[in-house]
Amino acid sequence: MKGRRDYRRVSRGLRFRLTTSYAVLFTILLTLVALLFRQRLHSALDQQIDEELTQEWGAMKGYMRIEPNQEKGGKINAVWYYDPEDPDETTIVLDIKKIYLITDQNGIPILEYKTQQPAYSTGYDDIGLDKPADIAKNVREAMASPKPKTFWMERKTSTGEPVKIRAGLVYAEGHGAPYYVAIGTTYSDKVKVLHDYTLFLAGVIPGALVLGSLLGYFMAGRALTPVLAVAQAAQRISGSNLSLRIPTREAGDELDYLILTFNRMIERLEASFQQMKQFSTDVSHELRTPITAIRGQLEVALFTAKTTDQYREAMFNALQDIDRLSQIVRALLLLSQAESGQLVLQKARLNLCEVVGDLVEQFQIPAEAAGVKLSAQLPAECPAEVDRVQIERLITNLLSNAIKFTPEGGDVRMSLRGEAQGVEIVVEDTGRGISSEHLPHIFDRFYRVPGRGTAPAPEQGLGLGLSFVAWIVKAHRGTIDVDSTPGKGTRFTIHLPAEGVSSDTLELVGQA
Ligand code: ADP
Repeated sequence: MKGRRDYRRVSRGLRFRLTTSYAVLFTILLTLVALLFRQRLHSALDQQIDEELTQEWGAMKGYMRIEPNQEKGGKINAVWYYDPEDPDETTIVLDIKKIYLITDQNGIPILEYKTQQPAYSTGYDDIGLDKPADIAKNVREAMASPKPKTFWMERKTSTGEPVKIRAGLVYAEGHGAPYYVAIGTTYSDKVKVLHDYTLFLAGVIPGALVLGSLLGYFMAGRALTPVLAVAQAAQRISGSNLSLRIPTREAGDELDYLILTFNRMIERLEASFQQMKQFSTDVSHELRTPITAIRGQLEVALFTAKTTDQYREAMFNALQDIDRLSQIVRALLLLSQAESGQLVLQKARLNLCEVVGDLVEQFQIPAEAAGVKLSAQLPAECPAEVDRVQIERLITNLLSNAIKFTPEGGDVRMSLRGEAQGVEIVVEDTGRGISSEHLPHIFDRFYRVPGRGTAPAPEQGLGLGLSFVAWIVKAHRGTIDVDSTPGKGTRFTIHLPAEGVSSDTLELVGQA
């Protein structure tokens, strides 16, 4: 239940974060796109107004003349030439005349030919007639310009409608003098389009955001559901059922990869658990034997011994078993230190031949006692970067085994050879050999090749020696091979690289 609660809290946080980040991104994107569209629409509408006014200007030039009125003593008037019977022409001219103004060079409106009224519309009056001085300035500017000059102005009617004005010079018929003409158009319909669009966006964007966020929240929830399944499966796995695996979803996605990684981790954990179990079973078994023996000796001393000699013998036997006990405990302690990485290699550059030579020397006495001929083939120099204590332990274990398991009259040979990549150490004997069914296990902890029956042969030790050998070789990043023919002999071949390994890798190679 607690796991589910934890998951809910975590998944809610994740869900929320996913949704908000999507929503923020979505907002930024939508707003940017909306602004861009609005900008485009704005300039398209602007362009449309300008085009309309330009068209109107062209029509105005077609229908309107500025010419002397002969009836009024040649006074310059604005004359509109169109057929009042033609609805098209009438519409066009009336459209132009909605907002217009025609003045002389000084900005004073000239008169309409027909009405003899000033040539401007009430529409223009409504947006405010330009000051004559301003018009005169525009006329001068246009006359000075080498190209025909057009003036664009923005105004507002008394009711607030926007108006765009196009102004420029028009030359009088025959007279040749320039006159100032301004025509305008309201464009509130276009402003409305823009306004409607903005309103639409203001409504649609938040709506889309709310919808998108809800959808995102839902989708994130769905995407996270398999995580809940994985978490629940993981919760069920405990020390007692490490064989459980989380089933993959066969989706081939990141989550499946996570499940696979998790399962592999559980596999490794299971293997370690198994080893630990095996180890404690082995240890208790190994400890029980000497403890039972000690108990037996002490019982003998307590209940049946009568003479001092009998007491002494029982004590002596008990002491021997205690020695064996402490040997086992010491060896186990050392192995566990090696496995947990506490045993750090103290590497140094040394002449391996010298170290091996000294050991062979020391082993001559037990070899002689066992009636075994011990010989060594060593070059003068054999430099290597190794841990002296551990290498001595390795050679000692191999040599003592070889002597131990070789009958009288046999041979034990030790040789060392420098190679391009390191050193080769060989220990071979003409002893009893190891049969192929036992060979794969001799490096396991407490493994001893049984003698006749299932019990270990009496000369055998704790069964830990070769476990150490394997660990030491691995810690030096070397390799060990064993060849054996039952009844003929055994050969251990070790290759050590020239450079040992750094101490930080030791814990990884603890398992022999
Ligand atoms: P032990 O303390 O019994 O020697 P080891 O781990 O050193 O334990 O060796 C494991 C077993 O492998 C030994 O009990 C022995 O049966 C076998 N063995 C090791 N070295 C040799 C050898 N040179 N010849 C024959 N058997 C060997």
